Amino acid sequence: MEHQELLAGFIRLHVLHHAAERDLYGQWMIEELAHHGYRVSPGTLYPLLHGMERKGYLESRIERAGRSQRRIYKATPYGIEALAMAQDKIRELFREVVPGNSST
Ligand SMILES: [Zn+2]
Repeated sequence: MEHQELLAGFIRLHVLHHAAERDLYGQWMIEELAHHGYRVSPGTLYPLLHGMERKGYLESRIERAGRSQRRIYKATPYGIEALAMAQDKIRELFREVVPGNSST
C-alpha cells in the first residue's frame, strides 16, 4: 500500500473501531478497508493485528470455519479506552488539518 507507514495509525484505529463493535477476522477487515479505499494485503494486516494483540488492544481466539480455522479478534477494555482517547485526538486533528473545518 502506498504511504503505508503514514497511514498505519489510521488503519489501526479503523481496526480498533470495528473490533470494539463486534468480532472480526482478518479477511473481513481487509475487505472493509478496501471499501474505504485502503488496499491492504494479508502480509500487512496480519502482523498489524498480531502487534495490536501483543500491545493489549485486541484479544483473539481460534474458531473453526469448515475445514479450516480462523482467528477472531475483538477489542479489550484497554483497547476501547484507547479508542475513546483517540477519538478526541482525531477530532482535534481533523479540525486543524482538513481545509474548511476550522471551527475555532
Ligand atoms: Zn469501517
